[in-house]
Amino acid sequence: MVTEGSSGECDLGVLDGKVVQMGGPLRGKSEIDASGALVLPGGVDMHVHLSQVSPPVTGTPAWVDDFDSGSRAAIAGGVTTIGNMTFPWEGQSPRQALARDLAAAEGQAAVDYVLHPVLTNPSPEALDELPGLASDGHTSLKLFMMMPEFESRIDEMISAIKIAGQNGMLTLLHCEDGALVRFTGEELVAQGRGGLADWGPSRPEFAERAAVERAIAICAATRSPIYIVHLSSRTALDAARRARADGLPVFVETRPLYLYLTGRVLEEPQGGKYVGSPPLRGPGDVEAIWAGLADGSVHTLGSDHAPWLLEDKTDLSLDVITARQGVADLETILPMLFSEGVRTGRISLQRFVSLTSTSAARLFGLYPRKGTVSVGSDADLVVLDPQLHRQIDGRSMQSRAGYSVYDGREVFGWPRFTVSRGDVVLEDGEVTAPPGRGRWLRRGHTAQL
Ligand SMILES: [Zn+2]
Repeated sequence: MVTEGSSGECDLGVLDGKVVQMGGPLRGKSEIDASGALVLPGGVDMHVHLSQVSPPVTGTPAWVDDFDSGSRAAIAGGVTTIGNMTFPWEGQSPRQALARDLAAAEGQAAVDYVLHPVLTNPSPEALDELPGLASDGHTSLKLFMMMPEFESRIDEMISAIKIAGQNGMLTLLHCEDGALVRFTGEELVAQGRGGLADWGPSRPEFAERAAVERAIAICAATRSPIYIVHLSSRTALDAARRARADGLPVFVETRPLYLYLTGRVLEEPQGGKYVGSPPLRGPGDVEAIWAGLADGSVHTLGSDHAPWLLEDKTDLSLDVITARQGVADLETILPMLFSEGVRTGRISLQRFVSLTSTSAARLFGLYPRKGTVSVGSDADLVVLDPQLHRQIDGRSMQSRAGYSVYDGREVFGWPRFTVSRGDVVLEDGEVTAPPGRGRWLRRGHTAQL
């Protein structure tokens, strides 16, 4: 058994979905043999896309997973709590968007979930909604710095971040400078270099760094905690580190893509399948992010699961402005980090638990119900077998994407069992959870690390 702060060998008693006993004599109605395996808190992945940005239109490609298939991918990979980005559709307020996704998730989700309201239109009405959302248990807010509205309505955006902090919410920020990204992309297209192979140069590191620096300045001004999603580059990480050293509540998430791939793969014939923003970076950035995972300056790993069909990703009519961003990563987030991080000695097992579960549970107001194994916590467990190895093949995985960016890689450390609130939801590689068993989680205030 391994938690963020301890490890040891003991039996574990579960009753009514909760951990009720650790160690000592135990007898159960049903028993799981975890010998030779690691019992860890189930993964807490606070960055997934299982609902759409706008209403689906027949014939227009979109993300292919919903709360049903996304939950299955989560369970297969040992993730037991997910956080979905909930975008308001045309005319919807953040609260109306939450109601829409809550209704969808209620019938579909098989793991427990939270929803992050996305703020696209910082109208007075939307800002007025924020305290009520927080008191209802939605204690996070997502903003996209590269949206034109972020720049054109910056006063209201800063107010939103201030209000969020005053109400115990964590503000998630996609950090790329919109004007710089648009300028660079349009210049490449004008030069005839707008294809997906130039995705990397179209979203340069300086656009991320500029946005991260500004986000930090907004944090300094408001004193509201901020959470930089999918940080990708060395310079941006250095900026976040300096902010932490200055005592600012700045938290950093990275995503798996940046650990295992560099921008070189975009030059492959089907390089479009790796498109996400920020883009894949160079080997020095990969090393820097790994160092950040090990030394604690990167706090969490989020999959940013945002899957498309391969033909929709690699469509040759796409360019750096119309590219379809995101990849499937829910099923692979834990096993890949174990295989490439723990097994290789780059990070400790305790850092693994912190990065994949505990820190996210704390930051998102779910700890200690989620993110640890202790008496009174939900019995959300992954029984990870370090010897269980599998060659990645997206065709046989749970996401409807039908491919993985890691296809062909040999990965050690898959769940032998996944347990959610005491229910065995993965056994012998089979997902056994019915859609709709997952529950929405009312969250407390963000807790700082
Ligand atoms: Zn995302």
